[in-house]
Amino acid sequence: MASSSTINPFETAKAQVDIVADLIGLDGGLRDTLKAPKRELTVHFPVRMDSGDYRIYTGYRVQYNMARGPTKGGIRYHPQVTLDEVRALAAWMTWKCAVVDIPYGGAKGGVVCDPKHMSHGELERLTRRYASEIAPIIGPEMDIPAPDVYTDSQTMAWIMDTYSMQKGYSVPGVVTGKPISLGGSEGRGEATGRGCAYVIREAARDLGVRVKGGTVAVQGFGNAGSVASRLLYDEQGAKIVALSDSKGGIYKADGLNPHAVEEHKTKTGSVVGFPGAKAISNEEVLEAKVDVLVPAALENQITKKNADKIQAKIVAEAANGPTVPEADTILFQKKIAVLPDVLANAGGVTVSYFEWAQDIQGYFWELDEVNSRLERVMVRSYNDVHKVALDRKVNNRTAAYVLAIQRVVDAMQIRGIYP
Ligand code: NAD
Repeated sequence: MASSSTINPFETAKAQVDIVADLIGLDGGLRDTLKAPKRELTVHFPVRMDSGDYRIYTGYRVQYNMARGPTKGGIRYHPQVTLDEVRALAAWMTWKCAVVDIPYGGAKGGVVCDPKHMSHGELERLTRRYASEIAPIIGPEMDIPAPDVYTDSQTMAWIMDTYSMQKGYSVPGVVTGKPISLGGSEGRGEATGRGCAYVIREAARDLGVRVKGGTVAVQGFGNAGSVASRLLYDEQGAKIVALSDSKGGIYKADGLNPHAVEEHKTKTGSVVGFPGAKAISNEEVLEAKVDVLVPAALENQITKKNADKIQAKIVAEAANGPTVPEADTILFQKKIAVLPDVLANAGGVTVSYFEWAQDIQGYFWELDEVNSRLERVMVRSYNDVHKVALDRKVNNRTAAYVLAIQRVVDAMQIRGIYP
């Protein structure tokens, strides 16, 4: 990972607010409110380990801004979780929900732990106790957690059960990303990759970039990357020429079939070694001569070291934070259109919103309905961002932040300051 990973992410998040505040002429009071998390909870709690000993864990839940509605954001289990990281992630969730105009504020949670070295039982006990500790501030009308790094639908099922046990009745709307059997939504698993494929289609049409018969490289063939590859191939007729995962990359000039690559990955654990493809490095995937590049793995992948070598016409950020700020400027100067993470991967939170809406109504939608509503949200959001970018002559990332922060400011101003 690049050195920028050592930068305090909350300082970055506040600096981003300042840039937009200057652009839209926000005064000191509003600006400061946007840089301060509304509510933060730190909890220290004991968990019984398999050995019989107890260990104390620390967890956080930050509700950054709730001017537009209940707060929404994932829970991360990681040894390096810090309060400032959770604050930054909660700020970014606030902007992401506002970009796609879903009626949520932003939140994030985290527990400092090493889930790779914990048993299933230890993880269950940790999750249930953390859920109890944050129960006073979560709920379908207040704050709705979801999975993030090293948490999944099982984690959400435990949180839903713990919260429901405390209430005395089932509350499926307290979390999203649940298994379908507990009130999860059809289409949630594919939503991030699908939303990304829709915004690529819209941007390509505006920019005159060919997707049908055009070439695509995808870094990270996981959930988001594999779905985006498959949909660009199946529904838009793109040629997927380069793919990678943590073990390396593969290249085939006349195109890879992502379904076959997926089967190979299921059998062998990696895309590497796919028959008929040439082995390439991850750097080569990023620098491939393609029409569309989809970074779908980690943060800080496009830096000032390699930005000049990027040859794609469109970079669609399925991953969170794959482009560092200095690289953004270089890509903008090279006239490469970056579809920023807060837009390109917002399909996930959008279908999470649909899941919550279905849960609180107790009425569930067919997959077709989920997908067509997702398409409408993504197309509308792309157009909103594109219009701000053209009007203000700024890159898409700045445009998305301007749009989002302006929407949050509008809600704050019309509500006024209490009392
Ligand atoms: P995942 O774990 O399913 O997939 C990640 C993939 O990246 C894996 O194939 C892994 O092998 C690969 N990878 C790891 N290190 C790599 C490296 N150095 N080079 C190339 N590939 C590498 O995760 P995911 O859910 O697909 O998430 C990927 C990104 O998308 C993350 O940044 C995540 O925050 C973001 N995202 C995901 C969702 C979602 O709903 N899944 C929503 C919003 C954002």
